[in-house]
Amino acid sequence: MKTLKIAIQKSGRLNEKSVEILKNCGLSFENYKSSLISTVTNFPLEILFLRDDDIPEYVQDGIADLGIVGENVIVETKAEVDYLQKLGFGKCTLKIAVQATSGIQNLEELNGKAIATSYPVILEKFLQEKGIKSDIRTISGSVEIGPGLGLSDAIFDIVSTGGTLKSNGLKPFADVMQSEAVLIGNKSIADNPEVAELLQRIRSVLSAKS
Ligand code: ATP
Ligand code: ZN
Repeated sequence: MKTLKIAIQKSGRLNEKSVEILKNCGLSFENYKSSLISTVTNFPLEILFLRDDDIPEYVQDGIADLGIVGENVIVETKAEVDYLQKLGFGKCTLKIAVQATSGIQNLEELNGKAIATSYPVILEKFLQEKGIKSDIRTISGSVEIGPGLGLSDAIFDIVSTGGTLKSNGLKPFADVMQSEAVLIGNKSIADNPEVAELLQRIRSVLSAKS
């Protein structure tokens, strides 16, 4: 019997809930400390602790068979993986925000404007669908400071409470994508009996909760 590998986030917003759902499935393993891999003692499974950005490609390439990651990261990396199950945590919305004083009223006004983001793929797709051509400026973090520094006219990012936007003089302008954590699988593992067993356990944990 082949030992499956599941990739989860090492530390960050998805780590705790990912560990929790696996433990609630009856799996025994040690939490991430310094080792990248933890072996489950009562199921043929190994847990890989990784940065979330790497998870979709690892699953696509078969380095991991399964993964838990935000839909936003899956779409952004364009990874070809199976969506096995939405997990009900890590919910967030990706929004375009503009300067509160900008006077921008409708999407067409974003034509020719500079938008700073860490999610250029998702933004590009949205703008294309709306027939808008903006100048997408990809930066890896703290995109909210862009407009204040004159680097961009707008931003596109994950917005939860809106507090960070407000303190940077920005306001939400358009919702582009809702995201939550999902269980993904490599394309070639659909018929694996251990995957089916694990999926069944995850589904019963989820239905016991709701
Ligand atoms: P890593 O070090 O693994 O790259 P990260 O800094 O990219 O971590 P986190 O901030 O831990 O990532 O967010 C992981 C995921 O959690 C996001 O990609 C998103 O799917 C989800 N998420 C849910 N709510 C939020 C939020 N308020 N802000 C950011 N991400 C959120
Ligand atoms: Zn990340």
